[in-house]
Amino acid sequence: MTLPSSDTLVDYPTGAIRSSSRVLHVEPLGDDLVIVLLDRTSCHPVDRAWPDQGPDLAVIESVDGARTAVRDCVVGATDGTDLHLGDAVPVRPGAEGWTFVVAHLVDGAGAPDEGDTVEVHVDAAHRLALSAGHSACHLASLALNAELADAWSKPVAIDALGAPDFDGLAIETSTIGEYGSVDVFRVGKSLRKKGFGVAALDDLPDLESRVTARLEDWMAAGADIRIERDGEKLTDRRRWVCELPGGVASIPCGGTHAESLAALGGISVSLTSEQTDGALIVRMVTETVVPS
Ligand SMILES: [Zn+2]
Repeated sequence: MTLPSSDTLVDYPTGAIRSSSRVLHVEPLGDDLVIVLLDRTSCHPVDRAWPDQGPDLAVIESVDGARTAVRDCVVGATDGTDLHLGDAVPVRPGAEGWTFVVAHLVDGAGAPDEGDTVEVHVDAAHRLALSAGHSACHLASLALNAELADAWSKPVAIDALGAPDFDGLAIETSTIGEYGSVDVFRVGKSLRKKGFGVAALDDLPDLESRVTARLEDWMAAGADIRIERDGEKLTDRRRWVCELPGGVASIPCGGTHAESLAALGGISVSLTSEQTDGALIVRMVTETVVPS
């Protein structure tokens, strides 16, 4: 039951939905589940550092054809003695002396054995839907930043296209779903202090149509989307790159993505807001249609 001493190699950044893997470690988790660690995997885990995109749906298939469903897939870390999962990982990714792994949680009854060769099969339709949703989320954020660029009276951090980064400065939560995403922004005192003029959010239907028009222009260009990465390890840095008409956008990202803007069909954005104590909460719902 030795724990691995090198990070899991990940295939999903290339778009892969299958990998041939070796079982490195199997460990019970509670009464019913078993943690399976592989040398490499195509199954995208939910990651504390990038919690916006949820886990893939997948099965692990043994050489004898036995298949067991992956009930959950999370990032874990080990110091060689104990294995910690998800929020219980006590150190930051890449911490010295720690190994970061993709932990597949499967039913105890169907778990493979250590040393087995297995195949990971990811549900293609679900992956496609999440990838489309994730790409649309990045694009909508960039378009929103661009349309709000004039609302700032002071210099602030800029986004991948050089616009003031409203998304990065105001984001509360970002959730990627199938073929879409929900972003929640908080516009309160600290954002106003940084020079954001809240009046820019007075006419949301107008802002919504400007964001949508900008997205339509980008979609018409049909640019490729690619993931650049420093290496195959789970902890190697990865970036989402898209050559948009306004410049090359490059954003740190651990998720999966559509292959091109053409693969997204169209993106629609809806913006709503509500006033809470001292802050305006803005909700951006992004939906994409993938051409069949
Ligand atoms: Zn991302």
